[in-house]
Amino acid sequence: MKVLEIRLRLESPLILTRRRTATGFLSPLRYIPSTTLRGALVTALYREGYLDAAQLKREKLSPEIVSSPAYPVSGGARTVPAHPFISKCKQCGEIVGEKSIRDLERRLVDGDGFGWSVECDKGHRALRPLHPNEFLTVVNGEFRADKKMLGEKREGSSADDDRVPRELYSVSVAISKSRASGVKGLLYHYEALSPGLEYWATVAVPGSIDFPRSKFVLHVGRGVSRGFGMVETWVVGGRSVKNLSNGCRVLYALSPTLDMSNPSQPSTFPRVIDLSRAAAKFGLMSNTVVRVVRVFGRMMWISLGWDLASGVPRPWVVGRAAGSLLVLERDCSDEALGALAYLGTVESVGEGFLPGFNMLVPLKELVHYAS
Ligand SMILES: [Zn+2]
Repeated sequence: MKVLEIRLRLESPLILTRRRTATGFLSPLRYIPSTTLRGALVTALYREGYLDAAQLKREKLSPEIVSSPAYPVSGGARTVPAHPFISKCKQCGEIVGEKSIRDLERRLVDGDGFGWSVECDKGHRALRPLHPNEFLTVVNGEFRADKKMLGEKREGSSADDDRVPRELYSVSVAISKSRASGVKGLLYHYEALSPGLEYWATVAVPGSIDFPRSKFVLHVGRGVSRGFGMVETWVVGGRSVKNLSNGCRVLYALSPTLDMSNPSQPSTFPRVIDLSRAAAKFGLMSNTVVRVVRVFGRMMWISLGWDLASGVPRPWVVGRAAGSLLVLERDCSDEALGALAYLGTVESVGEGFLPGFNMLVPLKELVHYAS
């Protein structure tokens, strides 16, 4: 198994929609889900001749290639989804909550009166949680909110304002081919992520599969046949499983979490994780089983994507949003724990298996994954 870090740059608007909102409009996702990215990567590797038909078939039945979700790059720095204990004051813009990784871990382990802050330092009681839809950078062991990323209102544009607008809005009307006029009721409203935006992701690939070393193009999201969703992709470096310097008690979810091991009773997070599978992929020996005793994070509907083999959408399931925090029963210092960040677990869905969930990073090591 080798792990590569990739960068993605949008070359044309990207339409990634979450569920229909109450008004009937579709609101865009601000990151690329792992199932979507993995599908686009596998397709591109096959198209470019890096996978043969047999390998492509194997990827559908027992997936080996695992990609993380792709999160925004801001000012050259990788960002990760905000955890549940950080908010922003709607009045003065101050970031309130637990910014230090060390303090966050300590408070989750000791559980000493973990309360939500209800006001900022200036006493405004108007906090907006950043979890799970905003993204933070990690600098010197602290979470930082980048104003650019938080979509601040523009206060008069200045000369050095070279920001890329985050979202594009477009309303299209379907044109009848026979009458060459608009068709009543066929008004489409799109919200798309704009060209120029950059994302980062990790991809775990079996050693037997070559991975392109030069730039290649992925087709992601909706409207690919109309030129949307062209994403330039390239490798920026390799990643290795980090030795844990000391015991780890809290895991940060880099992807959404869910547990489909008992299909009749799906859970929003894995209660028990056997590290032996992930360890074996990296040539490590481990028979450690870790137990999750508490979880903090928003529950959300998760799309399991399309089943390309049978051409039907997979079901939606309830899981926990990326950025959630999982507290282990006891400290774990098994090196194999680090492998979960790149491989996660493989969840069974119907006839097949789906990777890209439960990608968990030891919280203390998060600085190595996002900085
Ligand atoms: Zn305030």
